[in-house]
Amino acid sequence: MQCPKCQSTNIKRLRGYWEDLPAESPNRGRYAPPNEPTGQPLLALLAVAAGLFVAVTSGVLIGLGIAVAGLLWGAFMVKQQREYEAELAEYDGSTICLAKYHVF
Ligand SMILES: [Zn+2]
Repeated sequence: MQCPKCQSTNIKRLRGYWEDLPAESPNRGRYAPPNEPTGQPLLALLAVAAGLFVAVTSGVLIGLGIAVAGLLWGAFMVKQQREYEAELAEYDGSTICLAKYHVF
């Protein structure tokens, strides 16, 4: 296997390269794996539950508003998680050329 850009055979898996970098290396941030989203799906679920509770006990419109907001929030977090998983799969499948730092 060789680099498709410069034909160098000095290549390495991107994750392995990153893991072997010293902590002070400026390339650590540049070649780091994607960050895992910090969303709390349970909180979105709680918001939906709280919204339904409010809809029953106080105001239907306010309660439904909270529930819908919770649903949208939850959907957003699911989307973020999917994107992260796709990015991570791409990262784990990437190779870096150590001659000229081409990532492919
Ligand atoms: Zn290259």
